[in-house]
Amino acid sequence: MEGENFIWPTDTLRVTNRFRTKERPTHHGVDIAESGTHPIFAVAAGTVSKSYRSHSYGECTFIEHQINGQVYETVYGHMQTGSKAFKVGDKVNQGELIGVMGNTGDSHGQHLHFELHRGKWNAKKTNAVDPLAYLEKSLSLIRSNNDTPNKVRTKTKLYLPKSARSWTVYKLDKPPVKNDKDNWAGVLKPSKFGGLQYEVLAKPYQDVVTIQTKDFGKVNIYVASVTGAVLR
Ligand SMILES: [Zn+2]
Repeated sequence: MEGENFIWPTDTLRVTNRFRTKERPTHHGVDIAESGTHPIFAVAAGTVSKSYRSHSYGECTFIEHQINGQVYETVYGHMQTGSKAFKVGDKVNQGELIGVMGNTGDSHGQHLHFELHRGKWNAKKTNAVDPLAYLEKSLSLIRSNNDTPNKVRTKTKLYLPKSARSWTVYKLDKPPVKNDKDNWAGVLKPSKFGGLQYEVLAKPYQDVVTIQTKDFGKVNIYVASVTGAVLR
């Protein structure tokens, strides 16, 4: 699902204004508000397409994203003066700090005004979609982990070095034991592929993580640091 590609844009969940409500049908984004200092994160990797100060958006940054062949553009408004970290043409990574929540432009109280456009932004905002619908996955992750939003902004990855010729993976139902052949799911060959990389889905036991493999499906793998595996 496309929504899985976006993360929550700040470290507070306090939504104060939703997308195109009955009261404000021309509000084409969501407002997330909190006092204090709050980082603003790029919701996905992309290229900065606009960066300026306007009467409405205040200090703002626009980022263009290409996700599975679809162009998206995100807008981050009312940022603190002097906090913008990128200029037009800069490449940004998902989760990268792009500014700090502020109160610039047409804003009454500090908040982030965030817009998501499926397609490019335009003055009539015809491509605007409800950001919360796309950020739902990120929200439910935050809630189920009881985490602060910025902690889930990047998923942990497992890297198996190309120096490793073979790496045993295990079935999910019981703890991996090296000599228990009944428990083997298969063998990965990192050296054959110049190293391998997986997204960590779970950490069921100490030094064991669950990954999705192409050949063996979901498996457990032993990743103590002595093995040469890197979690990042
Ligand atoms: Zn707003």
